[in-house]
Amino acid sequence: MTGNTDQTVLVVGAGIVGTSTAYTLQKAGYRVTLIDRIGPCAGSSYGNAGAIVDSCVPNALPGILKSVPSMLLDPTGPLTIRWSYLHKITPWLLRFVQETRAERVEHNAKYLGALTSSASSDWQVMMENTGLQHLIRDEGWLKVYDSEEGFQETHAMRDLMLRHGSPFEVLGIGDLRDLEPNLSHIFKHGIYHNKSRFLLNPEKVVHGIADAFKQEGGDIVISDIHTLRAEENAVTAIGSHGNVSADKLVLCTGAWSKKLARQLGADIPLDTERGYHLMMPAVEEKGIGRPIVYGEKSFVLAPMERGIRLTSQVEFAGLERGPDFRRVRKLLPYAQKMLPSLKTDEQDVWLGYRPSLPDSLPIIGPSPESNRVIFAFGHQHLGMTLGPTTARLVKEMLNDEMGSREMWPYRANRF
Ligand SMILES: Cc1cc2nc3c(=O)[nH]c(=O)nc-3n(C[C@H](O)[C@H](O)[C@H](O)COP(=O)(O)OP(=O)(O)OC[C@H]3O[C@@H](n4cnc5c(N)ncnc54)[C@H](O)[C@@H]3O)c2cc1C
Repeated sequence: MTGNTDQTVLVVGAGIVGTSTAYTLQKAGYRVTLIDRIGPCAGSSYGNAGAIVDSCVPNALPGILKSVPSMLLDPTGPLTIRWSYLHKITPWLLRFVQETRAERVEHNAKYLGALTSSASSDWQVMMENTGLQHLIRDEGWLKVYDSEEGFQETHAMRDLMLRHGSPFEVLGIGDLRDLEPNLSHIFKHGIYHNKSRFLLNPEKVVHGIADAFKQEGGDIVISDIHTLRAEENAVTAIGSHGNVSADKLVLCTGAWSKKLARQLGADIPLDTERGYHLMMPAVEEKGIGRPIVYGEKSFVLAPMERGIRLTSQVEFAGLERGPDFRRVRKLLPYAQKMLPSLKTDEQDVWLGYRPSLPDSLPIIGPSPESNRVIFAFGHQHLGMTLGPTTARLVKEMLNDEMGSREMWPYRANRF
């Protein structure tokens, strides 16, 4: 406790970032109200692959542009753009291209790695405090490649990880068989993130943190917030359930943050990299021991409490257009090829909205208009990884433990 019991805080958005933040601030002595338009874990945090990845690799890498045409032409490739959304995503894509320059890649890797390298220990604290340790595993995160060419294309990524201290091992056929004996023998190479962890049930984890927050005295309010107002002495969130005011507000609405942030003086190039999941029954014997990425296809098979989850690649189509579940269903033959014992009966399918900025770094910092508001969103493919780390940084900011933030790499006005 740091003696902040007189300060009230609103946390808007109850995904992994918002629930972790609400819980962490409450534990530090703030009086916290967590607000969501639906309830805890209604957004992207519900259906992801659950990996907590210690990796500095940003999404914009040198040479990626060369691969885009073939990615778009392949109906099972890692990237789709709905053509009706092309004009909307073009400015974001142009910024993304700028981030592939060598000096930008180094910058982004340095500051992404600075966050992901603390994720495991921040999760440890969160799981111990909330009694959820039984839902986390330490078996790492594995990428496998069936072609020499596919593996060679990872050269720049491996170099980057070596330079920035992200831990990994390169595995050959024999190592792969030892580590994942039930995986198809077509895979010749692996990259094993041996210090990474994974969650057996991301939804249960977010609900568990929200329950712990409530049990320790926190309030959860259901309200669809449409207006944020920062005044000299208070900040107010106005929504479907009226007005709520507090001393401080943390905005954690993931992919839906752009409009609310604009009301507080920030024009942030946030868009969504949509992704799907498809749940299949558990494979009792002959299963897999950790989430595994099929490198050439960029999809994941993740062992979860209630079955095997296939999570798909990236679709640019914004927040309004409906799902196209054919995208994820088309991957089933490759999933079967990857894990021959897989039973591909579909249990459920889901569409999620990764909140992404062109430089792959989240926004964690005050709004340009008011120090009473902290933004905490834009965690792209790594939001599950970075929830507790973001919560700790927000707490340090509110406690004034961080010194100058002028050149803070996660600031809102960096674009
Ligand atoms: C297919 C897929 C696989 C993924 N796999 C991984 C993985 O393995 N590891 C990893 O680290 N990350 C992964 N991710 C990314 C991760 O899921 C996201 O980055 C993360 O969930 C974002 O969390 P968040 O709390 O910022 O947002 P969300 O979980 O989306 O939460 C935002 C919340 O804000 C609420 N909200 C929105 N607007 C309003 C409003 N106006 N008023 C009130 N409430 C509002 C929503 O209801 C929602 O509950 C994956 C994502 C996808 C789609």
